Amino acid sequence: MAFLDRTARSFLLGELISGMSLTLKYFFRQKATINYPYEKGPISPRFKGEHALRRYPNGEERCIACKLCEAVCPALAITIEAEPRDDGSRRTTRYDIDMTKCIYCGLCEESCPVDAIVEGPNFEFAVETREELLYNKERLLSNGDRWESELSKRLELDAPYR
Ligand code: SF4
Ligand code: SF4
Repeated sequence: MAFLDRTARSFLLGELISGMSLTLKYFFRQKATINYPYEKGPISPRFKGEHALRRYPNGEERCIACKLCEAVCPALAITIEAEPRDDGSRRTTRYDIDMTKCIYCGLCEESCPVDAIVEGPNFEFAVETREELLYNKERLLSNGDRWESELSKRLELDAPYR
């Protein structure tokens, strides 16, 4: 009986038809995959990505060198040196983040009283050497300049919960 059943299914192409009908069923459904990197999925405003140092709209650095981020960083990834300027304001002369140590906890961002250091939406910063992940102040400020519109939007969306 089993032999007859198997033979009939082979001649009538039963497996092929059921396979094709399954393909057809999923063909018209919404795709579960996206065509990365040309398409990207949504990211939460609280996503902890690449770090950036922000400026005020007049171009002045926000960071006042209070060193709270350096003190709070559990990975000891941040190194800051500071000196007063001629006008008496306090600014960093060195602001480094060792991204190989960073655990993306976001504590530096939360501790900052002037929203200077932030973790932005950028997650595409893979590099080939370790040295490229040793970020200095210049690199962090240029990240801030590049992502400022997204960064300010994210901070605005998150403000009611902070
Ligand atoms: S995200 Fe966390 S580990 Fe990374 S630099 Fe900020 S405080 Fe340190
Ligand atoms: S980034 Fe913020 S918390 Fe860190 S030293 Fe500058 S002002 Fe202070």
